[in-house]
Amino acid sequence: MKFSRRDLLIGSAGATAGFLLTPVPWKLLGDVSIWTQNWPWIPQPVRGPVETTQSFCTLCASGCGIRARMAAGYPVGISGVRNHPITKGALCPLGFAAHQLNWHPQRLREVRHRGRAASWAEARAAFEKARKEGPVAVVDGRSGRAASSVLEAFAKKENDSYQVVPSVESQALAPYADWSGDPVSAFGYDLENVRTIVSFGAPLLDGWGAPGRFTRLWSERAVGAADPQLRLIQIESSLSRTAGCAWQWVPVREGSEAQLAAGVARVLLEEDLVAAQGPMPQLSLVEVAAQTGLTTEAIRDLARKMVENRPVMVIATDGNPAIAALNVLLGAVGAPGGIIKRGERVQPQAPYEASGGSPRAILLDATVPWEFTPKTDGEVFRFAAWDGGGNKADWLLPAPGFLEELTDVPTAPTSAVDTYAVALNLVAPPAEIKGAAQFLLELDPSLRVVEQVIHRRCEELFHARRGMVYAEQAIAITEFDSAQKFEEQLRKGAVWMDSPPRISAFRCELKEWPAENNVRQGTNWAAAWAPPVLPALATKLYQESNLRELPAGRQA
Ligand code: SF4
Repeated sequence: MKFSRRDLLIGSAGATAGFLLTPVPWKLLGDVSIWTQNWPWIPQPVRGPVETTQSFCTLCASGCGIRARMAAGYPVGISGVRNHPITKGALCPLGFAAHQLNWHPQRLREVRHRGRAASWAEARAAFEKARKEGPVAVVDGRSGRAASSVLEAFAKKENDSYQVVPSVESQALAPYADWSGDPVSAFGYDLENVRTIVSFGAPLLDGWGAPGRFTRLWSERAVGAADPQLRLIQIESSLSRTAGCAWQWVPVREGSEAQLAAGVARVLLEEDLVAAQGPMPQLSLVEVAAQTGLTTEAIRDLARKMVENRPVMVIATDGNPAIAALNVLLGAVGAPGGIIKRGERVQPQAPYEASGGSPRAILLDATVPWEFTPKTDGEVFRFAAWDGGGNKADWLLPAPGFLEELTDVPTAPTSAVDTYAVALNLVAPPAEIKGAAQFLLELDPSLRVVEQVIHRRCEELFHARRGMVYAEQAIAITEFDSAQKFEEQLRKGAVWMDSPPRISAFRCELKEWPAENNVRQGTNWAAAWAPPVLPALATKLYQESNLRELPAGRQA
């Protein structure tokens, strides 16, 4: 019998189909995955009673409310808290998987000096020596916490400097701080009252601000409506997820967003679409069209649509003043549905300045983003819970991981209203772990410890008698008999939220139209949001599922 190539192909196709239809390969696959999960070196949660505790995720400044399922003192599952007044049960993929982080292979568990194992005593001696030899800069990545006050007090006592690396979202608010003289931490977005948002590339629907805040508004006021209550105009060079869902997507040439802002401002002023009289940008509409790749008619149409459904607010990805200036023209500064000044308690903080002197040493708190590299010749002491690789710090100092440290949770950047919460240290940290505040407190025991600062803040809030406390139910702070009872409630996972601020205009004057170049380049949002180390579950949710795409993965 002759056996042709075609017969062979048919036979092998049949064998493949038969193989797939039998349970054998699937059983083998299942056995292999069970077998690999039981390898002895894979960490297993200790068996014990399971209980649920309410707290906060402190992996970023959003401070989302979490419910942690704890087994024998270790978190084994995380979910959101519906009663949280801002996040209302939402978490980002990192938060959902945060309980895996403390087991991550990149967890820092020892002091390292230029790649070799060292001790805390050596690190302390090196820092003290550096401090004797010259000024030291203490850099914080999340100001306003009780730990921040320790860092700041330590630095200011010896005339060292305390500086803050602002979050990407805070950087976008920096121009209003420059123009008004108020600290950037005083500003927020009144999203709840806006009707048109013009986003210059801000990833509003895929990872911006506190999870749940904008997406909830979006689902209530925009999804499925041809003429939505809340319009989103997305100005972006590529079709991101946010651009794809927006009411209108304006595909602008990459890097020409500030020029487009100038063109829109020109139309707003020339056509009297706003009450402001100036200043008029230098660029003509024809020049803007040439630089942005849009037609002059498309730019005119954009400016008219922006003011069709007011209040309107512009949100940028970075602190480009030419884009922020549009809010001044639109009357969206110090107005409902615009940029509002919220905090009465905020203190000015010096942003990190690469040129700010030449410190002998720089101490970076664990809240400073991993990819931040100070431009300095000084010795760098870097606190971190996880080693993201490629860091040039002289000293890597192992910091507390997820839920391993008592901390307070001040107002999230971009929030329209002040909040305050306390996250307890629910998990015992490994013995060799130490936070930057603890390290400095050991050098100067006269400073007020984190616990005392939290206690004092609770007393201040209690005596101010403002706002509500969100626990199982919302209770007015005036219902509490004592500051101690109020603090106890916060330690159980409740959130204090201030009364909505009285929105009033604040001085934000533009003498001339800002230069249309990227004066203050913010960190790329995707890079800033991606942590150096992802837990396995977050990798699934965040990368493999394409839940959040990096710019390179977007459609052109
Ligand atoms: S946004 Fe994510 S990482 Fe940040 S606090 Fe919320 S859950 Fe945690």
